[in-house]
Amino acid sequence: MKLENVYMLLPGRKVGFGSIEIEGGKIATIKAETAKVNLNLQPQPRLVLPGLVNCHGHTPMTLTRGLGGGLPLQRWLEEAIFPVEAKMTPADVKAGAVWGIAEMLAGGTTKVVDMYDFPAETETALAEAGMKGHVCRVGLWFVPGRLDECIAFTREHPNAHICVHSEYLTNEEFCRGLAVANNAELKRPIHVHVSETEKEHRECLERHGKTPIAYLADTGLLDQGGFAAHCVYCTDEDFKIMAEKKVVLVHNPTSNMKLGSGFARIPRALELGVSVALGTDGCASNDNLDMFEEMHLASLIHKGLAKDPTVLTPWDIIEMATFGNEIKVGAPADLCVVDLDRLHLTPCLDIPNLVVHSMHASDVVQTIIDGKVVYDHGTFPTIDMAKAKADFLSAVKRIGL
Ligand SMILES: [Zn+2]
Repeated sequence: MKLENVYMLLPGRKVGFGSIEIEGGKIATIKAETAKVNLNLQPQPRLVLPGLVNCHGHTPMTLTRGLGGGLPLQRWLEEAIFPVEAKMTPADVKAGAVWGIAEMLAGGTTKVVDMYDFPAETETALAEAGMKGHVCRVGLWFVPGRLDECIAFTREHPNAHICVHSEYLTNEEFCRGLAVANNAELKRPIHVHVSETEKEHRECLERHGKTPIAYLADTGLLDQGGFAAHCVYCTDEDFKIMAEKKVVLVHNPTSNMKLGSGFARIPRALELGVSVALGTDGCASNDNLDMFEEMHLASLIHKGLAKDPTVLTPWDIIEMATFGNEIKVGAPADLCVVDLDRLHLTPCLDIPNLVVHSMHASDVVQTIIDGKVVYDHGTFPTIDMAKAKADFLSAVKRIGL
């Protein structure tokens, strides 16, 4: 397979023009010259980006899209989300996962770091659709037997992460138990919500005399690195711990604004050496899985807050959204192709700026994972969309929405 006459985002923050040849699921050859503007002078201008990586998602929450809008986080969880989630069966979760996977593939996302109940269903849905991802068994202290179940699930699923939902939905015994098993045997990164709201952060300080990050670090749960979602109230000390433990800060700007949680201090985190990625969070607090929107907001809010347009360049934001994916020889061919021949993408004078500030998920025309086309101009070669829609709508009905 060969992508010809395309613009491409290359390592070293360069924009190239030329061709990408894919063989055996990997990028075999790149022929690129430095791209010149105005790019729309090409007859069919297309841009190839490294596949986007959604580093904090609850994919099956497509089932509850927009539910409980307007409620603050704790009431939103307890009054709107948890009662509906309690009714979900594994089949419902699978249907929600397939729907979310289709939405992500259509928007150029090639990998998701996911956290939801019935993770085996999501893992199966990902494998069937040919999408990459890491699932986890969610650590919650009040579910009898959950610690053993979390350890067993992680052991049986080599690609799974370990997880505690958050400091406030676990206890010290649970965290230490999971950390001991993880550091001795499993050795997986953790996926966890951290300091999402001021209340959560303050109550953790009152309970333990430590911030959520310091508390989690002391239990040993951060020793294998991982993904900490939100981090809105993290301190400089927290950022230093995260940098040292190689815990990635996953920024979820839409979710944090919709739930009124606040703004994570992303420029400061970067200054202190923390690796930052982007996530959509679940569809009840976003309410879509559009990573281009997350890029757009992540760029704008920090410039606005800092009153400084030089804060977070478009390339900084693109590297957060493509987290580790690069267009280089030998890399897995995880790519998305965007049609530049659009009203809102013309003239195309500055590609990185255009990606972050003008582009939408709906501009993606092709998504490729390990060299296989998984989304192509509105069609899904790996998903039976008629069945997916029937299953999804009946699951929404079954859970009473
Ligand atoms: Zn979340």
